[in-house]
Amino acid sequence: MNLLGIDIGGTKTSVCVGTEEGTIVASQRMQTGPGDSLDVYFGQLKALADATIVEAGLSAADIEMVGISAPGPLNARKGILIAPPNNPGWKDVPVVAKVSEMFDAPVRLENDANAAALAEYRFGEFRGVQDLVYLTFSTGMGAGIIANGRLLRGASDMGGEVGHHCVEPDGETCGCGKPGCFEAYVGGRTVAERLKAKIRAENITTAIVDKAGGDIDSVDHKAFADAAREGDPFAVAEWDDFTERLAQGISNVIMILNPQAVVLGTIAVYEGDFVLRPLRQKLPKYTWKWALDACTINASALGKSIGDLGAIAVALTED
Ligand SMILES: [Zn+2]
Repeated sequence: MNLLGIDIGGTKTSVCVGTEEGTIVASQRMQTGPGDSLDVYFGQLKALADATIVEAGLSAADIEMVGISAPGPLNARKGILIAPPNNPGWKDVPVVAKVSEMFDAPVRLENDANAAALAEYRFGEFRGVQDLVYLTFSTGMGAGIIANGRLLRGASDMGGEVGHHCVEPDGETCGCGKPGCFEAYVGGRTVAERLKAKIRAENITTAIVDKAGGDIDSVDHKAFADAAREGDPFAVAEWDDFTERLAQGISNVIMILNPQAVVLGTIAVYEGDFVLRPLRQKLPKYTWKWALDACTINASALGKSIGDLGAIAVALTED
């Protein structure tokens, strides 16, 4: 089966041709600018899709299903991107209708976290596992939930907004405006912002700044991890807090959903056991043994292809 996957990201769009077994036959990408009009964008997308299909040795008529993965908020049922983060000027973009004009094939849409969960469910280490949670664990913390073998979307496509459940009522204000969200404690962007503010306010000398090239403004999650790994005392203490919050939030997910697998994305893929080991050590404090014993917690093994595979998995998911 010839499937077309479109992965719309913050600064780039990737198009791939793949099969139902998860083989990516061809893949191409383009940068997207915040000033682009919708007509310009969809014109470029069509050209990119055509080029990718040619690279795969096919023609547009050979495409049997199309899947689109895009950042939320979106309405999957209506096929609309509500407020695409890559372009502040866009609102309520009918992306499924636009792409449907290009191909004589069904077109489906999911948010990127759900798409990644579907990729894990179809093609990942835990393929076929009926209860699986994928956590994006990148600049933010999103989730895709497979429950009883089906994607859990919820009543208004808000199912899986794990990053915005509260872990600290009097805590930090999240980017979403709510107090103490999980994402405010474990999202790569907010963690880095908080570290920068703390280093400045308390005039802390730490290897985190060295790892960022000596520039506080350049501190990111990688600099944080690198300094903690080398034993910098401030970074080690902060890493301990960070993994404690991670365990707290993931425990809530495990206690509510009782999944067989929790698969973690970006940060866990890069940091591996340095984040997974303390996480696994801390989980029993917050989680019932019977739920924890049933659950394997690993980094995603799909690597960089998870975006393409997610879009292909969306194409294959009928409801
Ligand atoms: Zn929030």
